[in-house]
Amino acid sequence: MGEKKELIDAKVIKREFINKMLIFGTLVLTVIVAASIAGIWVAERYNEKLLEEYFSQMEEVPEENEEENGKAEEIQEVQEETTIPANPVYSEDAKYRMDKIYKEGNVEKIAYLTFDDGPSSNITPQILQILKDEGIRATFFVLGSRVELYPELVKQEYEAGHYIANHGYSHEYKSVYSSPNAVLDEYNHTETLIRQAIGNDGYSSHLFRFPGGSTGKYLDVKKEAIKLLEENNIAYINWNALTNDAVGHPTAESIVNDLKSTASGKNKIVVLMHDTGSKQLTADTLPEIISYLRDEGYEFKNFYDIMY
Ligand SMILES: [Zn+2]
Repeated sequence: MGEKKELIDAKVIKREFINKMLIFGTLVLTVIVAASIAGIWVAERYNEKLLEEYFSQMEEVPEENEEENGKAEEIQEVQEETTIPANPVYSEDAKYRMDKIYKEGNVEKIAYLTFDDGPSSNITPQILQILKDEGIRATFFVLGSRVELYPELVKQEYEAGHYIANHGYSHEYKSVYSSPNAVLDEYNHTETLIRQAIGNDGYSSHLFRFPGGSTGKYLDVKKEAIKLLEENNIAYINWNALTNDAVGHPTAESIVNDLKSTASGKNKIVVLMHDTGSKQLTADTLPEIISYLRDEGYEFKNFYDIMY
């Protein structure tokens, strides 16, 4: 009897063991299958998130990335879809193009519209709207002291593909031209403000316009400043056509006429205008000026077409 009972007990224990193993095995299988399904789901979501982040980053930070070959090509494609070009580069080729900017070497007619002394809360938005309607990218020589007041307008200019260039901080001749280094300091201060305003740490305009132009009063300081700027890889540009919108008491008629007479006979023109708060006439006459230049065969460009 004892032996038989032991045998039965052993069978029961064996069956119970097999049952337990079966239940355990099923459990393990269920867990593995569930984990796999969950894993695949998470991986898919994660991939989507990564892709989203990747594309949003590319839209927000349109920087040049020439070193990373494959990646650079992908980023370039996205940049072409957005309105913001790659950051300006003052290369050897750019220096050559700057030297030739007024030269009449070929039959191509090019107009660079430039707006100084802004931004202003009333005139700059009007100018931006006109440029948008006309499909023209211009250049804004902003003042650091105005960038501080209206950083969001500078960002709008930048995001619309206009070139943000540097007109110094104060526009106070006595302080800007107190020394060559003061010029550079005003330039650097304004560059920092531009970078903050547009949210692009890698941006450098490499382009300065002397308040009042690079000639005339304070000529000795300006000449030294030109060398100092060049040493710091910064170009400067004046203008060879203007509307006189900031001189005396212009009228709509005088503005258009002065543009026509100063542009006359020139294939390449850098046009000086202003988008300060008092320049309603500049905004009012801009469509007529653009239409005149178009009829004369000019193509509109900005300094992104030089600084690369
Ligand atoms: Zn100015």
